[in-house]
Amino acid sequence: MFQVAIDGPSGAGKSTIARAVAKKLDFIYVDTGALYRAVGWAALSRDIDYHNVEQVMPMLSQISVDLVYINGIQAVLLNGVDVSEEIRLPQSSMAASGVSAHPCVRDFLLNTQREIAEKNNVIMDGRDIGTVVLPNAHVKIFLTASAEKRAQRRLIELEDKGIATTYHEVLDDMIKRDYNDSHRAVAPLKPADNAIIIDTSELDLEQSIDAVYTTICSIVEK
Ligand code: C5P
Repeated sequence: MFQVAIDGPSGAGKSTIARAVAKKLDFIYVDTGALYRAVGWAALSRDIDYHNVEQVMPMLSQISVDLVYINGIQAVLLNGVDVSEEIRLPQSSMAASGVSAHPCVRDFLLNTQREIAEKNNVIMDGRDIGTVVLPNAHVKIFLTASAEKRAQRRLIELEDKGIATTYHEVLDDMIKRDYNDSHRAVAPLKPADNAIIIDTSELDLEQSIDAVYTTICSIVEK
Protein backbone atom coordinates (compact mmCIF):
# COMPACT_ATOMS: atom_id res chain seq x y z
CA MET A 1 0.00 0.00 0.00
CA PHE A 2 1.20 3.53 -0.74
CA GLN A 3 1.29 5.91 2.20
CA VAL A 4 1.46 9.69 2.10
CA ALA A 5 1.80 11.47 5.47
CA ILE A 6 0.86 15.14 5.69
CA ASP A 7 1.53 16.92 8.96
CA GLY A 8 1.38 20.54 9.97
CA PRO A 9 -0.28 23.09 12.23
CA SER A 10 -4.02 23.75 12.30
CA GLY A 11 -5.39 25.77 9.41
CA ALA A 12 -2.49 25.16 7.03
CA GLY A 13 -5.03 23.73 4.58
CA LYS A 14 -4.06 20.11 5.16
CA SER A 15 -7.54 18.64 4.98
CA THR A 16 -8.76 20.56 1.91
CA ILE A 17 -5.52 19.97 0.04
CA ALA A 18 -5.14 16.32 1.10
CA ARG A 19 -8.76 15.56 0.16
CA ALA A 20 -8.31 17.06 -3.32
CA VAL A 21 -5.00 15.29 -3.95
CA ALA A 22 -6.42 11.97 -2.69
CA LYS A 23 -9.22 12.31 -5.22
CA LYS A 24 -6.75 12.92 -8.06
CA LEU A 25 -4.74 9.85 -7.05
CA ASP A 26 -7.76 7.72 -6.17
CA PHE A 27 -6.41 7.25 -2.62
CA ILE A 28 -8.39 7.30 0.62
CA TYR A 29 -8.09 10.54 2.57
CA VAL A 30 -7.80 10.04 6.32
CA ASP A 31 -8.34 13.06 8.58
CA THR A 32 -6.85 11.89 11.90
CA GLY A 33 -7.77 15.16 13.64
CA ALA A 34 -11.38 13.92 13.48
CA LEU A 35 -10.45 11.04 15.80
CA TYR A 36 -8.96 13.38 18.42
CA ARG A 37 -11.93 15.69 18.02
CA ALA A 38 -14.31 12.78 18.67
CA VAL A 39 -12.46 11.95 21.90
CA GLY A 40 -12.52 15.67 22.82
CA TRP A 41 -16.25 15.81 22.09
CA ALA A 42 -16.82 12.67 24.18
CA ALA A 43 -15.13 14.43 27.13
CA LEU A 44 -17.11 17.66 26.62
CA SER A 45 -20.44 15.89 26.38
CA ARG A 46 -19.71 13.96 29.59
CA ASP A 47 -18.56 17.07 31.47
CA ILE A 48 -15.11 15.62 31.84
CA ASP A 49 -12.14 17.91 32.39
CA TYR A 50 -10.14 17.05 29.28
CA HIS A 51 -6.87 18.27 30.81
CA ASN A 52 -7.20 15.76 33.62
CA VAL A 53 -5.86 12.36 32.66
CA GLU A 54 -7.45 10.76 35.75
CA GLN A 55 -10.82 11.62 34.23
CA VAL A 56 -9.97 11.00 30.58
CA MET A 57 -8.39 7.57 30.98
CA PRO A 58 -11.45 5.77 32.44
CA MET A 59 -13.63 7.37 29.76
CA LEU A 60 -11.63 5.57 27.04
CA SER A 61 -12.94 2.16 28.14
CA GLN A 62 -16.49 3.45 27.62
CA ILE A 63 -16.11 4.78 24.10
CA SER A 64 -15.43 3.52 20.60
CA VAL A 65 -14.27 5.83 17.84
CA ASP A 66 -14.45 4.68 14.22
CA LEU A 67 -13.88 6.21 10.83
CA VAL A 68 -16.29 5.15 8.12
CA TYR A 69 -16.60 6.20 4.50
CA ILE A 70 -20.06 7.08 3.18
CA ASN A 71 -19.95 7.64 -0.62
CA GLY A 72 -16.22 8.26 -0.27
CA ILE A 73 -16.70 10.90 2.44
CA GLN A 74 -15.22 10.31 5.88
CA ALA A 75 -17.56 10.29 8.86
CA VAL A 76 -16.55 9.75 12.46
CA LEU A 77 -18.62 7.58 14.76
CA LEU A 78 -18.58 7.87 18.53
CA ASN A 79 -20.15 4.77 20.06
CA GLY A 80 -21.76 4.15 16.67
CA VAL A 81 -23.28 7.65 16.38
CA ASP A 82 -22.16 10.04 13.62
CA VAL A 83 -20.65 13.10 15.36
CA SER A 84 -19.09 14.64 12.24
CA GLU A 85 -20.86 17.97 12.84
CA GLU A 86 -20.34 18.28 16.61
CA ILE A 87 -16.59 17.73 16.29
CA ARG A 88 -16.23 20.86 14.13
CA LEU A 89 -17.47 23.23 16.86
CA PRO A 90 -14.70 25.55 18.15
CA GLN A 91 -14.97 24.02 21.66
CA SER A 92 -14.25 20.61 20.14
CA SER A 93 -11.01 21.99 18.64
CA MET A 94 -9.70 23.01 22.05
CA ALA A 95 -10.91 19.77 23.64
CA ALA A 96 -9.15 17.78 20.90
CA SER A 97 -5.93 19.65 21.52
CA GLY A 98 -6.35 19.00 25.29
CA VAL A 99 -7.01 15.25 25.08
CA SER A 100 -4.34 14.75 22.42
CA ALA A 101 -1.62 15.56 24.98
CA HIS A 102 -2.43 12.39 26.98
CA PRO A 103 -0.37 9.36 25.92
CA CYS A 104 -3.32 7.05 26.72
CA VAL A 105 -5.43 8.87 24.11
CA ARG A 106 -2.69 8.68 21.48
CA ASP A 107 -2.28 4.92 22.14
CA PHE A 108 -6.05 4.47 22.02
CA LEU A 109 -6.18 5.94 18.48
CA LEU A 110 -2.94 4.56 17.06
CA ASN A 111 -4.19 1.20 15.76
CA THR A 112 -7.28 2.67 14.12
CA GLN A 113 -4.98 4.90 12.07
CA ARG A 114 -2.45 2.19 11.21
CA GLU A 115 -5.12 -0.34 10.23
CA ILE A 116 -6.62 2.00 7.64
CA ALA A 117 -3.16 2.61 6.14
CA GLU A 118 -2.43 -1.13 5.99
CA LYS A 119 -5.53 -1.84 3.93
CA ASN A 120 -5.68 1.18 1.61
CA ASN A 121 -3.55 3.60 -0.37
CA VAL A 122 -3.84 6.64 1.86
CA ILE A 123 -3.14 10.30 2.26
CA MET A 124 -3.31 10.72 6.01
CA ASP A 125 -3.13 14.10 7.68
CA GLY A 126 -2.42 15.01 11.29
CA ARG A 127 0.40 16.16 13.55
CA ASP A 128 2.50 13.02 14.03
CA ILE A 129 1.77 10.90 10.96
CA GLY A 130 5.27 11.04 9.50
CA THR A 131 6.99 10.87 12.89
CA VAL A 132 4.92 8.27 14.81
CA VAL A 133 1.89 6.76 13.06
CA LEU A 134 3.49 5.93 9.67
CA PRO A 135 7.23 6.36 10.18
CA ASN A 136 7.88 4.44 6.93
CA ALA A 137 5.45 6.45 4.79
CA HIS A 138 6.62 6.71 1.16
CA VAL A 139 6.08 10.47 1.11
CA LYS A 140 6.16 12.83 4.10
CA ILE A 141 5.03 16.41 3.70
CA PHE A 142 4.98 19.14 6.34
CA LEU A 143 2.43 21.73 5.28
CA THR A 144 2.60 25.09 6.96
CA ALA A 145 1.62 28.78 6.61
CA SER A 146 1.81 31.90 8.78
CA ALA A 147 -0.56 31.98 11.80
CA GLU A 148 -2.30 35.07 10.36
CA LYS A 149 -2.99 33.42 7.00
CA ARG A 150 -4.20 30.26 8.73
CA ALA A 151 -6.55 32.24 10.99
CA GLN A 152 -8.00 34.13 8.00
CA ARG A 153 -8.73 30.86 6.21
CA ARG A 154 -10.23 29.17 9.27
CA LEU A 155 -12.47 32.21 9.91
CA ILE A 156 -13.96 31.90 6.40
CA GLU A 157 -14.53 28.17 6.95
CA LEU A 158 -16.32 28.76 10.27
CA GLU A 159 -18.39 31.62 8.84
CA ASP A 160 -19.46 29.39 5.94
CA LYS A 161 -20.73 26.90 8.50
CA GLY A 162 -22.64 29.65 10.30
CA ILE A 163 -20.43 29.48 13.41
CA ALA A 164 -20.18 32.96 14.97
CA THR A 165 -16.64 34.05 15.91
CA THR A 166 -14.08 36.79 15.20
CA TYR A 167 -10.66 36.89 13.55
CA HIS A 168 -8.97 37.57 16.90
CA GLU A 169 -10.73 34.66 18.61
CA VAL A 170 -9.70 32.33 15.81
CA LEU A 171 -6.10 33.62 15.81
CA ASP A 172 -5.85 33.28 19.62
CA ASP A 173 -7.23 29.73 19.51
CA MET A 174 -4.83 28.84 16.74
CA ILE A 175 -1.78 30.20 18.55
CA LYS A 176 -2.80 28.34 21.74
CA ARG A 177 -3.34 25.09 19.84
CA ASP A 178 -0.03 25.46 17.96
CA TYR A 179 1.71 25.96 21.28
CA ASN A 180 0.00 22.94 22.93
CA ASP A 181 0.59 20.73 19.90
CA SER A 182 4.26 21.56 19.49
CA HIS A 183 5.19 21.60 23.19
CA ARG A 184 3.54 18.43 24.42
CA ALA A 185 5.84 15.66 25.65
CA VAL A 186 4.36 12.92 23.44
CA ALA A 187 4.33 13.08 19.66
CA PRO A 188 4.77 16.87 19.43
CA LEU A 189 4.03 18.59 16.16
CA LYS A 190 7.29 18.77 14.19
CA PRO A 191 8.43 17.88 10.70
CA ALA A 192 9.80 14.33 10.29
CA ASP A 193 13.53 14.34 9.53
CA ASN A 194 12.90 13.47 5.89
CA ALA A 195 9.76 15.56 5.40
CA ILE A 196 9.40 17.96 2.49
CA ILE A 197 8.28 21.35 3.81
CA ILE A 198 5.65 23.23 1.80
CA ASP A 199 4.67 26.74 2.94
CA THR A 200 1.26 27.76 1.55
CA SER A 201 1.21 31.34 2.94
CA GLU A 202 1.60 32.83 -0.53
CA LEU A 203 -0.19 30.09 -2.49
CA ASP A 204 -3.86 29.94 -3.35
CA LEU A 205 -5.76 26.68 -3.03
CA GLU A 206 -5.12 25.49 -6.61
CA GLN A 207 -1.40 26.27 -6.31
CA SER A 208 -1.20 24.45 -2.95
CA ILE A 209 -2.95 21.37 -4.35
CA ASP A 210 -0.60 21.44 -7.30
CA ALA A 211 2.50 21.77 -5.08
CA VAL A 212 1.49 18.73 -3.00
CA TYR A 213 0.42 16.67 -6.01
CA THR A 214 3.64 17.42 -7.91
CA THR A 215 5.73 16.57 -4.85
CA ILE A 216 4.03 13.18 -4.47
CA CYS A 217 4.30 12.42 -8.21
CA SER A 218 8.00 13.31 -8.26
CA ILE A 219 8.65 10.78 -5.48
CA VAL A 220 6.47 8.09 -7.10
CA GLU A 221 8.44 8.52 -10.34
CA LYS A 222 11.77 7.99 -8.58
O1 C5P B 1 -6.39 18.57 12.45
P1 C5P B 1 -7.37 19.13 13.46
O2 C5P B 1 -7.27 20.59 13.65
O3 C5P B 1 -8.76 18.66 13.20
O4 C5P B 1 -6.92 18.44 14.85
C1 C5P B 1 -7.51 18.77 16.07
C2 C5P B 1 -6.49 18.58 17.19
O5 C5P B 1 -6.21 17.18 17.31
C3 C5P B 1 -5.13 19.23 16.96
O6 C5P B 1 -5.05 20.54 17.47
C4 C5P B 1 -4.17 18.31 17.69
O7 C5P B 1 -4.08 18.66 19.04
C5 C5P B 1 -4.85 16.96 17.65
N1 C5P B 1 -4.23 16.05 16.70
C6 C5P B 1 -3.11 15.36 17.09
N2 C5P B 1 -2.55 14.43 16.27
C7 C5P B 1 -3.06 14.19 15.05
C8 C5P B 1 -4.20 14.91 14.61
C9 C5P B 1 -4.75 15.86 15.45
O8 C5P B 1 -2.61 15.57 18.19
N3 C5P B 1 -2.51 13.25 14.28
